[in-house]
Amino acid sequence: MNIAIIAAAGAGTRMASDRPKQFLLLAGTPVIIHTLKVFEQCESINEVIVVLPAAESAGFLSLAAKFGLRKVARVVPGGVTRADSVKRGLLAIRAATAEIVAVHDGVRPFVTAEEIEAVVAAAKTDGAAILVAPVTDTIKQVNDQRVVTSLDRGALRRALTPQCFRYDVLRQAYQAADVTDPSVTDESVLVEKLGIPVSIIEGSPRNIKVTTAEDLVVAEAILSAY
Ligand code: C5P
Repeated sequence: MNIAIIAAAGAGTRMASDRPKQFLLLAGTPVIIHTLKVFEQCESINEVIVVLPAAESAGFLSLAAKFGLRKVARVVPGGVTRADSVKRGLLAIRAATAEIVAVHDGVRPFVTAEEIEAVVAAAKTDGAAILVAPVTDTIKQVNDQRVVTSLDRGALRRALTPQCFRYDVLRQAYQAADVTDPSVTDESVLVEKLGIPVSIIEGSPRNIKVTTAEDLVVAEAILSAY
């Protein structure tokens, strides 16, 4: 069984709004519902665990049912950091049945079912795989208000989600993790620390993270264009 953990327990402090960004409306429907619909359509995913702010957890299963989201099996209250939230989702998985775990940001509604399928398939053969996008700006390493060096952007990728792992690999990564460490911004970094190779699947730059009020404007435009 392949299980998705949707990390959606952020407080949304970068969005000047009184609602966490995953609950803001995109074409009249909450961002998190858009995201969950893609996982519902994806044949590689059997079950979905949604990690939400504790205050939003009650009643979410019935909201999901209202939108026909039959794969949403459990709602788990999140933690202080994203890594803490994902770890809580991971602890809710029954080890005996889990094969691949796909971790995805709840605020990335434009991932496609095909992208999820490709990353799950790569994780099945390689143990660990992540979706990435090209870097179009030139990236500078800086220090003390000065450029230290320019990086070769052809060799750089932006890490997106989903990030997919064999269950035992992700469990091992999180067992060794300090979930309060601010440098733990994705799962791949934890798996890299174990010395396990992580494969990449080239994804679409359309798979944006709806983080700021400006992103919501872009998201509306993407939604109406496709
Ligand atoms: O904060 P960041 O942009 O890394 O958030 C990425 C995803 O992680 C978002 O979907 C957010 O809701 C989720 N998150 C979480 N628990 C936290 C902080 C963020 O599930 N404590």
